[in-house]
Amino acid sequence: MERKRELGRGERVVPGLWRLRLPLPWAGVPHCNAWAIASGAGVVLVDTGMHEPGSLAQLQLAMEQVHLRLEHVQLIACTHAHSDHWGQAATIRERAGCEFWMHPNHEHATRTASDPQLALERRLEVGRQSGVPEAALQRYLERAKHMPSGIAAVIEPDRPLLPGVQIETDLGRWEVYATPGHAPSHVCLYQRERRLLISGDHLLGRISLYYDYGWSPDPVGEFLSSLEVIERLDVRLCLSGHGKPFIDAQGHIDASRALVAERLEATRASLTGGPRRVIEIAPKVHGGELSGMNAAWWLGETLCYLTHLERLGQVRRDDGETWALEP
Ligand SMILES: [Zn+2]
Ligand SMILES: [Zn+2]
Repeated sequence: MERKRELGRGERVVPGLWRLRLPLPWAGVPHCNAWAIASGAGVVLVDTGMHEPGSLAQLQLAMEQVHLRLEHVQLIACTHAHSDHWGQAATIRERAGCEFWMHPNHEHATRTASDPQLALERRLEVGRQSGVPEAALQRYLERAKHMPSGIAAVIEPDRPLLPGVQIETDLGRWEVYATPGHAPSHVCLYQRERRLLISGDHLLGRISLYYDYGWSPDPVGEFLSSLEVIERLDVRLCLSGHGKPFIDAQGHIDASRALVAERLEATRASLTGGPRRVIEIAPKVHGGELSGMNAAWWLGETLCYLTHLERLGQVRRDDGETWALEP
């Protein structure tokens, strides 16, 4: 049955800042947010929505509702290189003739988007390391071949979005904070006087954990350090990549930390009966059965917990696939 698709929607959050709510084709994640911030005669656009048939029209529809047009975009800044946050960067840059800024550690997305074969290989590797049977991997491969990337075209940022870079807007200057973990390219943008944080997928209203496995040494450790980075800021309102803006950043930081601690503990607990493979550990960490829908996410996430515990000296990889508690 065809799910009824939502429409792009624009709304003012505070004077000079608009939320552009854009539909996504994913079950369980119905939309993502882009943010337009007044800047002189135009706007700075933070994040872009995913590229798919009709997606540019959805962005235009959301912008029209708040009297904005693509031609008003003077700068595109992306919180990270996941398709729902930078997928349309190439199209918008072309239409608006503006610059596009993003953190330079975007290889996790740009290498796989420009080389679909590599993207598949990396996913199959996660499956093999996890102990997924070869027949199931081949079935996944057949399906994955037809999955769209969500990226209009791979383009290099015109400027690296690194700490020290400032984005000037009518609301004042936004500072860049590197917040890797969810993705190696993740940054948050902070407006100090108004205490506004554009938090991307680093801090979400409804806590949800995801890490890009295999592109940095310890995504879980990086995520926990990045929570400390934003904890030092004095955030009044959090504008996240999905869901409504929310206050109580500290409560959401605490809840994110608690969920990581719970999953690390569940990972350790799953090994008390002896060595296990990731395919056996992941359902215990998530409290559910693995399926074709969640496997790529859950197995990668579980490998990240094991990698973190291995660095802490609490678990070890026995052979290619099996993990055990350190005595
Ligand atoms: Zn993301
Ligand atoms: Zn996202």
